[in-house]
Amino acid sequence: MIKYSVNNSVAFVSWNMESEPMNVINQASTKAFAEAMETAIADTNVKGIIITSEKDSFIVGADLKMIRKMFNQKRDVETVFNEAKALNLLFRKFETCGKPIVACINGHALGGGFEICLMAHYRIALNNPKTKIGLPEAKIGLLPGAGGTQRLPRLIGIEKSAPLLLEGKELNPAEALKMGLIHELAETKEEMFEKATKWILANPKYIQPWDERNSKGMIVGKSNYNIPGGNIQSPQGAMLMLPGTAMMYNKTYGNYPAQIAIMRCVYEGLQVPIEKALMIESRYFTQLLMSKEAKNMVRTLFFSIGEANKGAARPKHIPEAKIQKIGILGAGMMGSGIAYVSALAGLEVILKDTTLENAEKSNGIYGKEYSRNLVKTQISKGKMTQEQGEALLNRIKPTADYADLQGCDLVIEAVFENREVKATVTKETEAIIPTTAVFGSNTSTLPITSLAEVSVRPENFIGIHFFSPVDKMPLVEIIIGQKTSDYALAVTIDYVKKIKKTPIVVNDSRGFYTSRCFGTYTAEGMEMLAEGINPILIENAGKMAGMPVGPLAVSDEVSLDLAYKVMKQTEADTGIKIEDIPGGKVVKKFVEELNRIGKKVKKGFYEYPEDGQKYLWEGLKEIYPLKAEQPDIEHLKKRLLHRQALEAVRCLEEGVLRTVEDADVGSILAWGFPAYTGGTLSYIEMIGLEQFVKDCDELADKYGERFRPTEKLREMAKNGELFYKEAEVAEMV
Ligand code: NAD
Repeated sequence: MIKYSVNNSVAFVSWNMESEPMNVINQASTKAFAEAMETAIADTNVKGIIITSEKDSFIVGADLKMIRKMFNQKRDVETVFNEAKALNLLFRKFETCGKPIVACINGHALGGGFEICLMAHYRIALNNPKTKIGLPEAKIGLLPGAGGTQRLPRLIGIEKSAPLLLEGKELNPAEALKMGLIHELAETKEEMFEKATKWILANPKYIQPWDERNSKGMIVGKSNYNIPGGNIQSPQGAMLMLPGTAMMYNKTYGNYPAQIAIMRCVYEGLQVPIEKALMIESRYFTQLLMSKEAKNMVRTLFFSIGEANKGAARPKHIPEAKIQKIGILGAGMMGSGIAYVSALAGLEVILKDTTLENAEKSNGIYGKEYSRNLVKTQISKGKMTQEQGEALLNRIKPTADYADLQGCDLVIEAVFENREVKATVTKETEAIIPTTAVFGSNTSTLPITSLAEVSVRPENFIGIHFFSPVDKMPLVEIIIGQKTSDYALAVTIDYVKKIKKTPIVVNDSRGFYTSRCFGTYTAEGMEMLAEGINPILIENAGKMAGMPVGPLAVSDEVSLDLAYKVMKQTEADTGIKIEDIPGGKVVKKFVEELNRIGKKVKKGFYEYPEDGQKYLWEGLKEIYPLKAEQPDIEHLKKRLLHRQALEAVRCLEEGVLRTVEDADVGSILAWGFPAYTGGTLSYIEMIGLEQFVKDCDELADKYGERFRPTEKLREMAKNGELFYKEAEVAEMV
């Protein structure tokens, strides 16, 4: 697990975990690491220690399998705290051992891996721009609990460490050098070890800048260490902490315990010597390890997304598809984005529209032009070379000729949301493409099974639902029609993996999963408006609950005529009148009477002045006079989140959703359901099923049956069941 050798009086402690693809910190590796370090410290012939790795990456952090298991065991706070502080005590012991330690960072050094580097006295990294260095814990609801919140700000100051600690920003070695995170770069491993050995021999008595020797010669933390850029209690420190805290709350609305804990670690820890500071960090780390937020975030954001990315839903018996050529029908907003991400993944792309001009430049900005503009931006940001950009563009062929689709492995249709147009292009395309080719529709509303009716190969017909803007949104919702085969699903998942997006797989139904649940958020906002609730309160309730945008603002973005079209279609298909659909009356009024259909026409719930910020339209007050008594914001937050979560339960029970994990992953990645909850179903577990059912009954009595819990959910709550079988997970990992 750890290779130990001594060369020229320098000990090499080199990580090489056989059981894991990358080195991670768990009980076994920590034990082996500690033994190797102790050996080096005890050996009088050893003048210094180099920590490195035999693998391509250095150490990528704590073993999250171990953390997940811990979450699912019932543990008391004292046990958790003792474990949390053990690593801090160990690293502190190494840091003060009296021998110089150098971290030779040969690849990714993340989380606990980078905290080992921070404990070391000197850091040299291999100059590979692909290497990531940083502390990403905050992204999954945790904090760097092995000294990161203390050593990093002591090293580079509070201001520079804030984005690294609070947002988990990762750097490449050159950037890390510039920021002062590492001391030197090396081009080869030999050079790196040579430099490290030289530094060790030149600095036999090196101690950290935040340490000093006491009268007995022992290394202890300085009580008057000056933090670069200003101490906490200095005017500069106050200038950073006060607005910093405000900015953090402005972004998170206090929903994310990790960010609050990190701010506290920095504020409290930097005022005391490092020994005490590390214990403060361990206390806050313990708090997070006991939190529901961290448990849910680790589960969804790390494990479930990771599994989905690996193709968990892919039928295993189908060999991997060798997708090389893809056809895209419709070079509008969606088609042009799909063309870009496909060409970026190295695929040959045929981008077909009704005319060559459209395929080149639909609406002036779409078509192949869209990729040209994105390539330009990427080059100007230094993220793509000129040659890479040209090669990408050369892979996209705009055309108006179906014949160009010959030999395509996959075709994605993104023409107008119109049944007849879609039927025509399906037939014309199937006449040209190989019989093995898969045909995917990017429809946002039309059931896949019904679109597949015109297909001569319905088993190869599938839904591939992208989100806008395609190049930024990470999720693809794959929809299985009644006749869709395992083969079509496998090919589609292989494609989604290739373009580096996360797939979820759902069964066919109106609005599928994501549009259906997202629609409940906007509709609830409109219902509140119609009740006379202050629109400012509504919008703030959405954001304070953790949604990225208020329900009215996002309705404007998506456009109300689209909601109107979908509701009209629902009316036609189900007989339910638009006025009886939640949000329907408001949508109808805004589209039919007021012609305020949203941002694209610069008037909706908001006004969009040419030269200023949008603001809520004054006319709202006249149409929906404010109620004398306004509800509490907490009540509104609950109403907005419960509504979405309950719809996810219905999707699960109706079989639209195939897995609990897909519900959570889809909700966060598709429409921005708050990540701190872990997703729609994790949110219910966070509240407790019993409480959720009780809340929903109360909401249903007040606002209508859309809030009424399902019988199955009621049963689950009564029997103490959960969506996730975590006890099994605790056993399994
Ligand atoms: P769009 O109007 O921007 O683009 C449609 C394109 O299809 C136009 O360029 C048009 O010229 C072309 N087209 C029309 N008939 C054609 C034909 N017979 N052959 C080839 N091209 C043809 O529309 P969009 O927003 O890109 O939406 C496309 C599809 O994606 C729709 O089904 C829509 O519901 C779905 N969708 C849209 C979004 C979104 O946010 N806009 C999100 C997910 C899915």
